[in-house]
Amino acid sequence: MKRCLIILCFLSAFVLFCSWGFFPHKLINQHAIYTLPPDLSYFYKKHEYSIKEFAVNADKRVYIDPAESPRHFIDLDRFEETDSIEIPWYKVKKRYDEQYILSRGIVPWHIESTYKKLVNAFYKKDIPRIIKLSADLGHYTADAHVPLHTTSNYNGQFTNQIGIHALWETRIPEKFYKGYKLYVGKAEYVDDLLKFAWDTVKESHALLDSVLGIEKELSQETPILLHRSYILRGQQIQTNYSDFYISSYHNRLNNMVKRRMKKSIYAIGSLWFSAWVDAGQPDLKSKFIPVEIDSLAIQKDSKFFGREEWH
Ligand SMILES: [Zn+2]
Repeated sequence: MKRCLIILCFLSAFVLFCSWGFFPHKLINQHAIYTLPPDLSYFYKKHEYSIKEFAVNADKRVYIDPAESPRHFIDLDRFEETDSIEIPWYKVKKRYDEQYILSRGIVPWHIESTYKKLVNAFYKKDIPRIIKLSADLGHYTADAHVPLHTTSNYNGQFTNQIGIHALWETRIPEKFYKGYKLYVGKAEYVDDLLKFAWDTVKESHALLDSVLGIEKELSQETPILLHRSYILRGQQIQTNYSDFYISSYHNRLNNMVKRRMKKSIYAIGSLWFSAWVDAGQPDLKSKFIPVEIDSLAIQKDSKFFGREEWH
């Protein structure tokens, strides 16, 4: 049986390390718009479609830019302690070998650097850049809210839980989002960006034991035949978590995924709002420029530079 399962796993669809899944990223960016004060939300609502569509550009760039992947995660378990690395990027670069840091991920610093670029774009009233950078900042901030983006065991590969990444951040929100009330109130000003980013990843990391432990317990208590469902597509057998398994995990997590989505939405709205305030609250009310949707299409034979996962 075990061998059969292994074979089926290898026949299964090979999917990419997409973070939150494409759909949840778009949903999170969209809901972040609703946290903004009227002066700013007017602009974001006009560009809602682009802000949503660009929400996944950062993941698509992993196909064309080898430097992109580390911007989406940080392996906190690969640092002896985090206090010494909660420092500005320019100090990190002086203290550590670049490869050492890049191999462990840089999401907190990348949130800060994307934020600074967004402030600059607001200052210049550069509409296409405001939209693209807002969408990117939303993406990285949402990724930082995912516990499995803070560990080298990002897909349960060290604990015999391969596939847990997509289960937690894609399968569950896709299946249950309609029941989620994602209203989170008003965005607030963030005065210490880097601290905010670090608090976020540390909060995510603190949930990691539950994310892994609850799934491990579920897999041990659930008859193996109920773990997965198999479908024949053409000549290929594809496998995925069964609806029963996804629902059981969701129930045992007690809305953790929803809470992280809501936290992401609140954080993203607050960062957009803060960037606008830092740029002097430019008046964007009359600004609408149709922004061409990036043709960051993933080609079948595109080289992938990121981490990969099975589901
Ligand atoms: Zn990502």
